Amino acid sequence: MSRKLMIAGNWKLHLTVEEAVSLAGGIASGLAREDLDVLVIPGFLALEPVALSLSSSPVLVGGQNIFWEDQGAFTGEVSGPQLKAAGARYALVGHSERRQYFGETEKTCNLRLNAALRAGLRPILCVGETQSEREADQTEGVLESQLAGGLAGLQAGQMELVTIAYEPVWAIGTGLTATEEQAAQAHAYLRGWIEARFDKGVANSTRILYGGSVNPANAAGLLNQPEVDGALVGGASLKADSFLGIIQAA
Ligand code: PEP
Repeated sequence: MSRKLMIAGNWKLHLTVEEAVSLAGGIASGLAREDLDVLVIPGFLALEPVALSLSSSPVLVGGQNIFWEDQGAFTGEVSGPQLKAAGARYALVGHSERRQYFGETEKTCNLRLNAALRAGLRPILCVGETQSEREADQTEGVLESQLAGGLAGLQAGQMELVTIAYEPVWAIGTGLTATEEQAAQAHAYLRGWIEARFDKGVANSTRILYGGSVNPANAAGLLNQPEVDGALVGGASLKADSFLGIIQAA
């Protein structure tokens, strides 16, 4: 089954609303590919203005996080229905910065992922090992527990709406990138795990993105790996030229 490539830009805690709308405009006007999905993931404040500014463009919008309750006394949180109403189509779940700085656990990833599905959003579950876990030969064990925890209780029909992002923590924002072989190996492991947990059809249709210091120069090599279905890009998504350069390289 053929999988459509996706290039997603995670803008993290960067850009004012005005800057975000301007960047979105630059990406939309420079976009010369229709054969892949392009997603931008602004901060919450900019999400709706960016989505509105992209309403006549194929560029999609996502949230960087999502709370697991739909409404209630949860000061400071943002829910699935709010994200959906603001124009989001996707939501990141379990980004390593959430895991590292905000106490994200497998259980809370699973709750957030279910909240996204409930709201009609497509979750992107981020998984990946730290440097010390890789050095201790624990990469596959870490990936297995992050997948098992994040996807706990999911039915095959729900899994078809989920994207996985393999993001080795040691490669995020560091300028270090997994080699093409390391990325290929991890992606093959992830797809094999999905096949064992669900079935071959689900495994073959699940999009698995690579993330970790992707830039226009290294994108082609990574995206040419057969199990790599796109990229989740941080730093290089903050300038239209470099993000468009990655899209062109795909
Ligand atoms: C990310 O934020 O998911 C990411 C991969 O960042 P960077 O591209 O900057 O490493």
